[in-house]
Amino acid sequence: MLASGRPSAIVSQMKGRCALVWLIAGSLILGGPSPSADGSSIQTSDLREWLTYLASDELQGRATFSEGLGLAAAYIQERLTEWRLTPAGDRGGYLQSVKVQEVRTTSRSSVTVRVGRETRVFRDGGGVTFPRDMGGVRTITLDRVQFAGYGLDAPAARHNDFAGSSLEGVAVVYLGAGGPKSVDATRSRRVLDGRSRHALDQLRAVAVIGPTADHAPERTRGASGGSASDGSRSFDFTSAERLDRPVPPSINAADAFYEFLLGTAPVRYPELKRRASAGDPLPTFALTDVSLTFTIDADYTIVRTRYTHNVVGVVPGTDPSLRHTYVAFGAHYDHVGYADREITNDGTGAPGRVTRGAADDRVWNGADDDGSGTVALMAIAKAFATSPPRPRRSLLFVWHAGEERGLWGSRYFADTGSVPMDRIVSQLNIDMVGRNRNDDLKQADTVYLVGSDRLSTELHDVNRAANASLTRPLRLDYKMNDPSDLEQMYYRSDHYSYAAKGVPVIFFTTGLHPDYHANTDEVAKIEFDKLTRITRLVYETGARLADLDHPPVRDRRGPRAGRGTRE
Ligand SMILES: [Zn+2]
Repeated sequence: MLASGRPSAIVSQMKGRCALVWLIAGSLILGGPSPSADGSSIQTSDLREWLTYLASDELQGRATFSEGLGLAAAYIQERLTEWRLTPAGDRGGYLQSVKVQEVRTTSRSSVTVRVGRETRVFRDGGGVTFPRDMGGVRTITLDRVQFAGYGLDAPAARHNDFAGSSLEGVAVVYLGAGGPKSVDATRSRRVLDGRSRHALDQLRAVAVIGPTADHAPERTRGASGGSASDGSRSFDFTSAERLDRPVPPSINAADAFYEFLLGTAPVRYPELKRRASAGDPLPTFALTDVSLTFTIDADYTIVRTRYTHNVVGVVPGTDPSLRHTYVAFGAHYDHVGYADREITNDGTGAPGRVTRGAADDRVWNGADDDGSGTVALMAIAKAFATSPPRPRRSLLFVWHAGEERGLWGSRYFADTGSVPMDRIVSQLNIDMVGRNRNDDLKQADTVYLVGSDRLSTELHDVNRAANASLTRPLRLDYKMNDPSDLEQMYYRSDHYSYAAKGVPVIFFTTGLHPDYHANTDEVAKIEFDKLTRITRLVYETGARLADLDHPPVRDRRGPRAGRGTRE
């Protein structure tokens, strides 16, 4: 699980900052009990054996670009060979090289604002700031511009600046970096920082303009950056994605821009600014006779390239008309590594948190994060590959690298993988499924589902039916699917790389706990019985999806089961 929306953030310093089921009468096909499966071939003893090795100190915490991660990849490959999965990496093997690039940007981008008969051009760095990773060259003109107050959709805080308005084809403009005073800015930092991304990704706006401030909204694509004192490794951002892909404009603006844009607005900028800095209520309104032209034009220079590997295998489907389509299963097999230097009292020198009293433990084993998902995925692959009959669609298994660094492996696969995204009917991601949230014993039957209803109601329903069919069904909790979830889990693991390309996803997790990203996330603390049950749930869900005669319908109704419900 990714520690932060900002890929390069140091976790040890973040402490403290950091049912409705739509039944469409007669047309709903839940996928009957699949002939292949009750998942009984998934064995706790396998999960324990594999995880005991993968989360041992010998694997050094499985940091991306480390020997330990290479050992983990080799171990997974050996099992896939034994179970005779079809290799689906590069050159007929199971490994896919993932290219991670550090990039320097030269921007010539600008936004041209027309208000009535007056026009002004704001260049990148002159009143507006574009993200460093702004995508390929293009020009977009928009004449539907909505001033959306604080730009905040936070049902849990009973605040919604978008109620009732469709944002398709709309440029959204908002103010108030600190948010309204009715919302706790410290607790809700991830929600406030994610406003631009939410408007683009979930509400389908086509461009977003937010304020420049100390707490400016983070860049949608998580630009990191830095420069070494010798100048040799200066870069603006790290990316495992195509640099020429289309990225919706998400910019930050200063006073002069807002002043001009809102020059004929029903409430003028000085008054809006005064209210925003006091956290007072802001109006929302459409701007009339206004247009925005975004000119995106940047050169990218590759400063450094590094390689890591995804591990990729396929179990071919049996139906000649369906087996070119896939149900994808994913987990990340990397973690944060080990301490290779002195750890000081403030946690500097450690790759994650240091548990009090455990300062001598130098290895971040990541048994739960995401050793649990790694072995769950192995068990599902083994069950499909070795316990016939097989389902009709093909099954794709990807063990992603670089998740902890910014979803690198999944972003790379989604751009350039052996299976194009339009052939994947659903992606099921497993990240941290071996514990109880906050070590709460009352959560022994609970698994959190994130994203299941956002792109496909049918996917959500298939998963619920799969759970109901288990000998011991789990309690499905959708709290983390709420768009105002304080942890913003929907964006924090590999499923998001698939969802961002339009693939319906379900993220399975048992949630955060005191050992999250700490040096005490160890095998001894794994709830193996619960891990086995969740593995069977993912297996059963995938089996039903793989036997459906049509891909789960993509009705794009957005998060519903998350809005405060708990079924
Ligand atoms: Zn993690």
